[in-house]
Amino acid sequence: MEIFDVAIVGGGPAGSSCAAFCALAGLHTLVLEREKFPREKVCGDCLNPSCWPVLERLALARQVLDLPHSKLTSVEFITIDGHKVSVDLPTGNDCEISVKRSWFDDLLLRRAREVGAVVREKTTVTALEHNGDWKIATATNEDFHARALIAADGRNSTVARLRNLLPRAARERVALQAHIPLPRNFGKRVVLQFLREGYSGQAPVNKAELNLCLVGTPPTISRLRQWAQSHFEIAADQPWRTITPLTRAPVPCAHENLLFIGDAARVVEPFTGEGIYYALCSGELAANALAKISRGKDRQLALRKFARGCAEMYQGRLWINRLARAAVLSPRLASFFIQAARVEPIFRSLTTKIATPKL
Ligand SMILES: Cc1cc2nc3c(=O)[nH]c(=O)nc-3n(C[C@H](O)[C@H](O)[C@H](O)COP(=O)(O)OP(=O)(O)OC[C@H]3O[C@@H](n4cnc5c(N)ncnc54)[C@H](O)[C@@H]3O)c2cc1C
Repeated sequence: MEIFDVAIVGGGPAGSSCAAFCALAGLHTLVLEREKFPREKVCGDCLNPSCWPVLERLALARQVLDLPHSKLTSVEFITIDGHKVSVDLPTGNDCEISVKRSWFDDLLLRRAREVGAVVREKTTVTALEHNGDWKIATATNEDFHARALIAADGRNSTVARLRNLLPRAARERVALQAHIPLPRNFGKRVVLQFLREGYSGQAPVNKAELNLCLVGTPPTISRLRQWAQSHFEIAADQPWRTITPLTRAPVPCAHENLLFIGDAARVVEPFTGEGIYYALCSGELAANALAKISRGKDRQLALRKFARGCAEMYQGRLWINRLARAAVLSPRLASFFIQAARVEPIFRSLTTKIATPKL
């Protein structure tokens, strides 16, 4: 029977980065991914500049820039009444870019494979047994065995649910996303637009397409979709991807032989566009912990260090996340603040804080 050092459930940014770092550290690594890549994913497609150092360590920064992408030069906040506040983003090598998740995630998963991870796509994890090692059952009726398990399976984590760790979701909001034809003269800006029913995020992802996200409550989301149809002149039968929840409590990230990373561990408000960074970074932290344990270092110490690393990653940033959540839950209030010209510096400093490289 083949026993992997580590099995990773989910091949998004968290799972792929973790798999690549684990394989590079010499661990016999397995990734189990439900979908066949390349696949799209509900996301604003914006890569926070903090991602670059992690992508450098994965030897992927150059390849990411070889994918079709847009270099983003500013964020424009638009109030309910149409008042606009524009904030410049950092320029140069550390700039924020937007890239379709189908391209980006596929590149990461291929990197994990290249450096030695075994990747099984179209393989949905359905059951878990823990008897010292893990026995992982899948919808394809195959069982896999591993010494350690990583949950990188997103905000509705099956692993967390199967271990009775998944917090009850606050199903107060839902997100829709589509790629639509890029409106003429849209420019290189990210638009964050407050609307009576919620908000919309817009970013050009290449020369021809705009990523359009809508976030609202179940009763208002169809009105948001109608707004988008008339505002962007898109067809009524435009297909939309959808996801919920937008908010839920975090799952403790470090357990005996089980680590949670990325959205499986903590869901952040999409408005700040930082989720991919947290996914990549927590993937690397988890791989470092497992590499230390496999080299015979103190397990508890490695787990504590991993948990501390994750806490530090969010340190000083969760208040921005809470502020963003408060703003998007009350678009009228947020619009009022944006209009009050004297608080524009707050938006500038918040945007700078979010878009400044962290590692
Ligand atoms: C509307 C919206 C806009 C956003 N915009 C941005 C943005 O612009 N920038 C940004 O940085 N972040 C953004 N985010 C957040 C970002 O999308 C996530 O933080 C990021 O995708 C987390 O990566 P992950 O690898 O943890 O999880 P995911 O990307 O969700 O990957 C999880 C993977 O696990 C697989 N999986 C799930 N269940 C199973 C199972 N049972 N068995 C096997 N595989 C399984 C899935 O198929 C998936 O591939 C946005 C989020 C939303 C909702």
